[in-house]
Amino acid sequence: MDKAAFFKLSYGLYVVTSKKNGQLNGQIANTAIQVTSDPPTIAVCINKQNLTHEFIRSSRIFAVSIISRSTPMTFIGHFGFKSGRDFNKFENMNYKTGVTGAPIVLDNTIAYIETEVMKELDCGTHTIFVGEVRDCGILKSDEEPMTYAFYHEVKGGKSPKTAPTYQEPVKEKVEKSAKYTCSVCGYTYDPEKGDPDSGVKPGTTFEDLPADWTCPVCGADKSKFETEG
Ligand code: FE
Repeated sequence: MDKAAFFKLSYGLYVVTSKKNGQLNGQIANTAIQVTSDPPTIAVCINKQNLTHEFIRSSRIFAVSIISRSTPMTFIGHFGFKSGRDFNKFENMNYKTGVTGAPIVLDNTIAYIETEVMKELDCGTHTIFVGEVRDCGILKSDEEPMTYAFYHEVKGGKSPKTAPTYQEPVKEKVEKSAKYTCSVCGYTYDPEKGDPDSGVKPGTTFEDLPADWTCPVCGADKSKFETEG
């Protein structure tokens, strides 16, 4: 089996949100699909370890916020590489409450779909939740949605181990003192690309990054970065 074949599947990138007893939570997911158009139905695939899974199970609702291609890595890290068990992800976040009561993220979102769960399918590590659409809308019609390929190839993003599409990284030969990888989230700092979201220009070596620079995905400091070679 050549599992590289899986990387030829195409996806988007979304914030899947839910609630439980007045508490809100959300996470990044690349697996959201339309299932039927009549009735309008979508499905998401969520890791059982994630707090959002617990919330959807309990409230039987979820919303999908479709994020734009220009979404900064810090936003993806906020929802994708941190747990709502440690802090409230919606504090200081722009959102509105949908008709189902699920939060709809407004920052970086171009469209949203909210649903009521009709069915779920146990898939071992993950559950597929199938939801009938209760409301949906466009927030920014002039922006392109983020794709999974764009996130990986252009933004240098990685998948957490809880993602359905996660694969153990293949160790690549990295030039000495060239690329540094975050030991917390797997983000790789590429000097050729810099970190434009944080104002770091392309061509800046890892050594030349400011001392207070932090991982744009998970917020870890420079000491958490390692290089090979
Ligand atoms: Fe990191």
